[in-house]
Amino acid sequence: MDFGLTIDQKSFINEIAEFCSAHCKAIDINDLEKRGADPEAIEQKLAAKSWYGLPFPEEYGGSGRGYLSVGLLIERLAMGGYPYPGRLQITMLNGLNVLKNGSHAQKMDLLPKICRGERTMSISVTEPNAGSNIASLQTAATPKDDGWVINGQKLYSSGAVGERNIIMVAARTDFSVKAHKGLTLFLVPSTRPGLKFTRLEAMGRNIGGLYEVFFDDVWVPNENVLGEVNKGWSAMTKGFNVERAIVSAGYLGFSERIFNHTVTIANERYGRNGDSGKRGAVMSRLAEFATELQAAKLLTYQALRLADREKLSIEAVCQCKVYGSELAKRLGDFCAEVAGGIGYRMDSLAQWYYRETRIVTVGGGSSQIMRNVAAAQLGLK
Ligand SMILES: Cc1cc2nc3c(=O)[nH]c(=O)nc-3n(C[C@H](O)[C@H](O)[C@H](O)COP(=O)(O)OP(=O)(O)OC[C@H]3O[C@@H](n4cnc5c(N)ncnc54)[C@H](O)[C@@H]3O)c2cc1C
Repeated sequence: MDFGLTIDQKSFINEIAEFCSAHCKAIDINDLEKRGADPEAIEQKLAAKSWYGLPFPEEYGGSGRGYLSVGLLIERLAMGGYPYPGRLQITMLNGLNVLKNGSHAQKMDLLPKICRGERTMSISVTEPNAGSNIASLQTAATPKDDGWVINGQKLYSSGAVGERNIIMVAARTDFSVKAHKGLTLFLVPSTRPGLKFTRLEAMGRNIGGLYEVFFDDVWVPNENVLGEVNKGWSAMTKGFNVERAIVSAGYLGFSERIFNHTVTIANERYGRNGDSGKRGAVMSRLAEFATELQAAKLLTYQALRLADREKLSIEAVCQCKVYGSELAKRLGDFCAEVAGGIGYRMDSLAQWYYRETRIVTVGGGSSQIMRNVAAAQLGLK
């Protein structure tokens, strides 16, 4: 199928594929996950390609490419076996928030460092009682000494730990107004005194780590407020549409990777000399998934192209997020099924694909919420 990519975009894809085949093929993902290790060495190689700077203007050291290019990068890294595209993705998305809402000083300080791979970013919004309903978050920030003191607890913060990491934190700065009105965003270095991190034992996403973050009188100066005080809601949510399109590109790439692995297993188990009944059943499912992958790609690329033209609609985002995430989840299921008993072993790749895809329909805007939003756009009151 022709996805209308330019020569430049096609050669970019080839460059990513070469990077993955040079650096990712030998990675033992199960070992990496078991050790809960950060894949530092390969992250440095990625940074050396200047890909962290892809969406940022040249004046900050970036290459000023559009959202489709960012999506292609995330997709192809996920497809090519890059162990932790999440860090790159979250850093770029939060960096884009700084680009849109940050002060001149914040941009000049942070963006060149992100482009050089010297700074990473994570986001801490979710709390024990604020998940899909993020507007009800209770972490508080109060003014003190030309700055703010933050107290509270965040849950499920991906990759929040690290000497060079900055957390984008959403906190309540006015409790007297409606839920979404009194929120402010803060840039909090992960090394700030008063921060405590507890690593969560999770079913998946163990590379990079998932953390509970406790804020105990964490002080940051006024310069660390991102955007305007009490205007955090719009600064945070305005970027959600583009974020979800880029996240969908990651799901697409991961789906392609699972699909390719499933074909390999199917060939090993049910190839020409195998049981013809099983072979036929698996082949027809694979053919259906292959078609769905094309559909997911069309939806995702379309959303990214619309984002590049600043015309991304909520429906287009909901469609690619719901379709892409649910496809990834079903493929994770199918891969484990085709692998049979092998897929139940902790040294198989199939079990990892299965576990990693359980969360995709919940995080970053759950399927139910996305459907509700899409339905509202269709006129359902
Ligand atoms: C691996 C992982 C990584 C994460 N990374 C981060 C991160 O880096 N930073 C961060 O801030 N957060 C992060 N999160 C949090 C994530 O965004 C939340 O888990 C998500 O928003 C859902 O919130 P919840 O877990 O409280 O579930 P809930 O909001 O309680 O949802 C549970 C279920 O109820 C459904 N539901 C909820 N409300 C409605 C409704 N109105 N109508 C219909 N159905 C509904 C949902 O669809 C879902 O299926 C991460 C979570 C995970 C598991």
